[in-house]
Amino acid sequence: MSLNIQSIRGLFPVLHQEVHGKPLIYFDNAATTQKPQSVLDSLTNYYEHDNSNIHRGAHALADRATRYYENTRETVQKFINAKESAEIIFTKGTTESINLVAQTFGRKFIGKGDEILISTLEHHSNIVPWQMLCEEKGAILKVIPITDSGEVIWEEFEKLITPKTKLVSVVHASNALGTINPVKKIIEAAHAVGAKVLLDGAQSTSHLEVNVQDLDCDFLAFSAHKLYGPTGLGILYGKREVLEAMPPFLGGGEMIKEVSFEKTTYNDIPFKFEAGTPNIADVIAFKTSLDFIQSLKKSRIKAHEDELLAYANELMLPIKGFIPVGTAEEKVSVLSFNINGMHPFDVGQMLDARGIAVRTGHHCTQPLMKRLGLEGTVRASFAVYNTKSEIESLAEGVERIARLKN
Ligand code: PLP
Repeated sequence: MSLNIQSIRGLFPVLHQEVHGKPLIYFDNAATTQKPQSVLDSLTNYYEHDNSNIHRGAHALADRATRYYENTRETVQKFINAKESAEIIFTKGTTESINLVAQTFGRKFIGKGDEILISTLEHHSNIVPWQMLCEEKGAILKVIPITDSGEVIWEEFEKLITPKTKLVSVVHASNALGTINPVKKIIEAAHAVGAKVLLDGAQSTSHLEVNVQDLDCDFLAFSAHKLYGPTGLGILYGKREVLEAMPPFLGGGEMIKEVSFEKTTYNDIPFKFEAGTPNIADVIAFKTSLDFIQSLKKSRIKAHEDELLAYANELMLPIKGFIPVGTAEEKVSVLSFNINGMHPFDVGQMLDARGIAVRTGHHCTQPLMKRLGLEGTVRASFAVYNTKSEIESLAEGVERIARLKN
């Protein structure tokens, strides 16, 4: 059974507004998704009825807040099929999750001359933490090249992965182009040389079934705000044995078993990595986002988004001056493009005047843009609440704008 998109749209208050006198068409979902009313209600409900600090209170509100907080952890565990909920750590976002791994796993297990492998497709969040680590440790950052269509070159990857590789950290689905990386094959090859693998799941978790046990990745990092959830909340999944071997990230309350001025013993996972009062309200509300996704089923969301992407390509590829960027076989619903003779920012502004929200620029992937010989692109990224008629409005806008120079 296909999804009833109109009734899904009814769940998102923000979509029902005009921008510059035109109905809002929100195509900036790879940057952040909108939140359904149930998530907003969950946030206010927490502050109205349950607000309390967690894990240490001996009163009813603390007990409720703790239960709801830990319920989300279990829901995330099921969402990615982790073996146990202790393998789920709450952070501020994908960025913090990756930095956590760099600063703990990286500092302990990566040394002089060791190699870290990333791909050309990476977001700055999956480049800079490794550069910082390499600078500190004298390790070497290597980059898997890509084809012009935006896919990793497998033969080059095979040449780069050696027993010196200690970590492979790659994006599961590219935010700039939509390319889905062949992560299962990458993980197998990395494990064959004894390297650990971190997947940047910021874009994949909202579109694809991500099963960490089946993939066998060692880490998965993602952000709640790209999954119809609140901002300022991220997840780091790690295999138990790997997390246990890692030193803590931040020091403070919650992450300890016992503190004396002479010595501190650390808490068990996941608490070892959750110092201080966490983002309780957003964690609790995130369960509602995941329930929303599960109620629709990922496979049906993906089918709808694939249909939108195919329709967008069908309408826009024939437009004179339309230049698609990133034409990989396997993609999530990201349409990156340029218009011949026009700066992406100008295109974005002209679309905004039509009520259409897209992102323009380098999408935090400057090295990728450099590889493609581009300053940036226009990016329209689709979510479950987008419609075919919105795609038609985009195509009409792009056609009119392209006509100015083509
Ligand atoms: N990685 C990818 C592929 C992303 O798309 C993003 C966000 O755009 C990030 C990492 C960083 O996520 P956050 O800003 O939520 O930490």
